[in-house]
Amino acid sequence: MNGNTATPADVSPAAPVRERLRITEIFHSVQGEADAIGWPTVFVRLTGCPLRCVWCDTEYSFHGGQWHDIDAIVAEVASHGAKHVCVTGGEPLSQKRCHILLRKLCDAGHEVSLETSGALDVSQVDPRVRKVMDLKAPDSGESARNLWSNLDHLLPHDQVKFVIASRGDFEWSRDVVREHGLAEKSMVLFSPVWGKVEPRALAEWILAERLPVRFQLQLHKLLWNDAQGH
Ligand code: SF4
Repeated sequence: MNGNTATPADVSPAAPVRERLRITEIFHSVQGEADAIGWPTVFVRLTGCPLRCVWCDTEYSFHGGQWHDIDAIVAEVASHGAKHVCVTGGEPLSQKRCHILLRKLCDAGHEVSLETSGALDVSQVDPRVRKVMDLKAPDSGESARNLWSNLDHLLPHDQVKFVIASRGDFEWSRDVVREHGLAEKSMVLFSPVWGKVEPRALAEWILAERLPVRFQLQLHKLLWNDAQGH
């Protein structure tokens, strides 16, 4: 306890509340997946995630990071000169002020996407933002965290992503797509877990089942072998 505790009378009512987010990294690269694949994109990676998917490739974002003012983040994004911005994590929605960042990036004229785990409520996400929402298949170890009510908040420009580590994951994902009519709500993406499923096998399963989903490989893994900062 220090001796400088301010009383309410000491605090100016006009003092702005600093809007900050904990950030792991901001970098300029090529979007490696989803609808905006291939576009030069600025990535804003927020720190923290309440999930622990067994195949997670961004564990370095779970802890640490640095506090940044949201206006400074928007300015840094602008300095890269890219129209596309991807807000990612970790799980960006685990910081409630993420919504402020999303709104300000949209107001600044960017094409904004949000990569989210599917475990946290997306109902308050600015409708201008393209949500890229995972549904966690069983081999992730986090299937019980899927927040199914999120499916009610999908817009036609959103995408639902299944990351598939086995034939069992594929069958689970196939059944979810069919039972929830997902392909009629949004674009559906199937992606293999690197080193767990042969990409060609997944492509052939999709074709054999006549599934209306989009197969994808992660471009940044092919280009940069998943090095941090890409
Ligand atoms: S939700 Fe994303 S960041 Fe969190 S553990 Fe799973 S893959 Fe990693």
